[in-house]
Amino acid sequence: MTQALYLEDSYRRECDSSIISVKDGKYVVLDQTIFYPNGGGQPWDTGTIKRGNEDFGVTYVGKFSGEISHEVNHDGLHKGDAVTCMLNWERRYKLMRSHTAAHVFASLLCTGTGALITGNQLAEDKIRFDFSLKEYDRDILGRYINQTNALLRRDIPVKCYTLPREEALSIPGIIKMAKALPPNIPSLRIVEIVGVDQQADGGTHVRNLREVGQITLLKTKNKGKSNRRVYFTLT
Ligand SMILES: [Zn+2]
Repeated sequence: MTQALYLEDSYRRECDSSIISVKDGKYVVLDQTIFYPNGGGQPWDTGTIKRGNEDFGVTYVGKFSGEISHEVNHDGLHKGDAVTCMLNWERRYKLMRSHTAAHVFASLLCTGTGALITGNQLAEDKIRFDFSLKEYDRDILGRYINQTNALLRRDIPVKCYTLPREEALSIPGIIKMAKALPPNIPSLRIVEIVGVDQQADGGTHVRNLREVGQITLLKTKNKGKSNRRVYFTLT
């Protein structure tokens, strides 16, 4: 089982690893990794796996049957190789900022309106949010964007830790997406924006709301009677 270093320290940009297996010349499993695999609305990391002076570009990272698989752009890596992993930090850091911003916005919107989050997807240039809410207009969203920005200007820490399942589930609002809870796991990783939000979450986040910057509303869409879609972006 690969050790997921990104869960312990989302700021780690480099690590030494050893290759556990290589499939079809380009799908690489490591003993430990800093690369975040696609999932939970957060896209995969890109970067480089280095062996000596040789660079292998990491083009996709996914989780398959519980294993984190790194797709590289050419073959040549072998089981047992000692390598160094290096993140495309610019991309990852943007995704961290976006992910934390998304939690703040979701928390304010859900608490304020009773909306249910039905989907969310981060991209490097925008954040997409789907929620269900009957009474609604664009001004309401503008207001929650402004409230989000007010919080993002404040010195508010973001903490990640794990809690036993039972204890975690007793926290109100800990699961924002009804379908998101993985079954049969004994403990949950919690992301806490102190005084703002606590969520079960496996993504990477910044340490303080001040790092996010500000967000801007891009567009909104109605998707059926009470399904709404909103896009915003980091500024
Ligand atoms: Zn999240």
